[in-house]
Amino acid sequence: MPLQPEPLFTAQTIHKRIQELAHEIRAAYSDAPPLCLITLKGALHFGSDLTRAMAFSSETDFICARSYADTDSTGEVRLLYTPTAVLRARQVLLIEDILDTGRTASALIAWLEAQGAASCRIAALLDKPSRREVDITPDFTGFTIDDHFVVGYGMDYNERYRELPDIRILEP
Ligand code: 5GP
Ligand code: MG
Repeated sequence: MPLQPEPLFTAQTIHKRIQELAHEIRAAYSDAPPLCLITLKGALHFGSDLTRAMAFSSETDFICARSYADTDSTGEVRLLYTPTAVLRARQVLLIEDILDTGRTASALIAWLEAQGAASCRIAALLDKPSRREVDITPDFTGFTIDDHFVVGYGMDYNERYRELPDIRILEP
């Protein structure tokens, strides 16, 4: 499957948008910084850049769920890694690469709530609202996109392309 030659978002565009998002998120957590939970592996670079841009003196941890094989959602969400951070009574900011059907994020939020988190908000680099199957909206969104399968900047197709600095559309 070839990549479209022109990036959907260049590294420069991504960088600029992340600075804006970081401002927005800082303002929303002006009373106390959240526990930042980066979802692996897709939000690897986004989480790294966003947490540095927010420059909160707070805890960062990881969570890993799997919902995807190939380019289609399997509809099933499994937790492969859970944070070591205390979750009870915490304000959690879940840092996601993409909200697609919304199943992964909503399963993660349900799990975090079951662990006693005081609040859970979502920062998603990309949002594909046209694909949504459950009622969930990111609290902070980098870019809203049409129904494309994208790779790069941490996002993969069968473990390839995560290293690309920009975001590209994979042609079907
Ligand atoms: P959802 O559960 O919302 O359908 O999908 C969540 C996960 O599927 C995302 O966090 C991401 O890891 C993966 N995903 C959804 N759309 C895309 C896409 O266009 N490209 C890539 N690489 N992964 C995607
Ligand atoms: Mg993901």
